[in-house]
Amino acid sequence: MKEIDFRSDTVTRPTAAMREAMFAAPVGDDVFGEDPTVNALQAKAAALFGKEAGLFLPSGTMANQVGLAVRLGPGQEVVCDHTAHIYRYEGGGIMSNAGASVKLLHGDRGRLTAAQIERELNPPHDIHQPTSTVVALENTSNKGGGACYALSDIAAIRQLCTAKGLWLHLDGARVFNALVAKGESPEQHGALFDSLSVCLSKGLGAPVGSVLLGSRAFIDKARRVRKRLGGGMRQAGFLAAAGIYALDHHVERLAEDHRRARRLGELLAGLPYVKEVLPVETNIVIFELAAEFKAERFVAEMAGRGLRCILFGHQQVRLVTHLDLDDAMMDRAEELLKAWS
Ligand SMILES: *Cc1c(COP(=O)(O)O)cnc(C)c1O
Repeated sequence: MKEIDFRSDTVTRPTAAMREAMFAAPVGDDVFGEDPTVNALQAKAAALFGKEAGLFLPSGTMANQVGLAVRLGPGQEVVCDHTAHIYRYEGGGIMSNAGASVKLLHGDRGRLTAAQIERELNPPHDIHQPTSTVVALENTSNKGGGACYALSDIAAIRQLCTAKGLWLHLDGARVFNALVAKGESPEQHGALFDSLSVCLSKGLGAPVGSVLLGSRAFIDKARRVRKRLGGGMRQAGFLAAAGIYALDHHVERLAEDHRRARRLGELLAGLPYVKEVLPVETNIVIFELAAEFKAERFVAEMAGRGLRCILFGHQQVRLVTHLDLDDAMMDRAEELLKAWS
């Protein structure tokens, strides 16, 4: 019996067709800007989102950290939700990479509103307080159970940032999940942000990599910061080829992951050990177990039976759907989830 791995959408392996694309990629030295496949990926991703330029990076973390470090420095702060990946899961890097402070807001499943941000901005002339410089959103929100923003809410935040002279960054590790769920285009979102990080190795199924997008001047600076952090890669076209393949073939199929996540959410909501399931909007299912059922025991026993998932906070468990699952695995998962007590 094949293991059913719901731990993350990062566990996928490149498909046979993706591997072929990787093998066939023309490559060069990307630190010299001479890898044709990296250049093609950067141009393709930038064009998709309507931005001037892109930069290929080894991880989503580095894409966010480089983007933030270009725009942030000592005496400044980035405003984000308290559950944001940039704050919780990037090793405290904002402090070491940008030397900046962070202001945490409490959004609705990871999503902020313009009014909420406006209330919390520091007055620019008060020398006691760090200058609010960057606003960072996450779409979809990981800790928010894959919740997506309404485009109009992002547009209102864009307006606020323009009025106040703030930089607006998107942590788009799962932005394609949001686009597919809402039926919106990358250009519509690209137009609202100054910089975006887009992950290729989550739902899109590439083995490695993210792209940072923005203006030509921004990306020129980001290239310098990437090098400083040790993220300048050489014949990285083999990896970029997987990203190109993923953008061409693995975006629309995210709807399938969302359908499977909804199925899991509906099933869990009716099971006796489940206290609450967060609304399922994309490919993430987060649920809370009733107090008498320990989440640690659930995760351990499920792993023993071939279904893997992760603890995600007190009594909370996260399941993520992705392209290495199939209908037989989903049927088996249903049996296993129903049988646990
Ligand atoms: C996974 C993830 C990232 C990037 O993570 P890496 O593992 O460094 O690629 C960034 N933001 C969010 C919301 C994520 O889920």
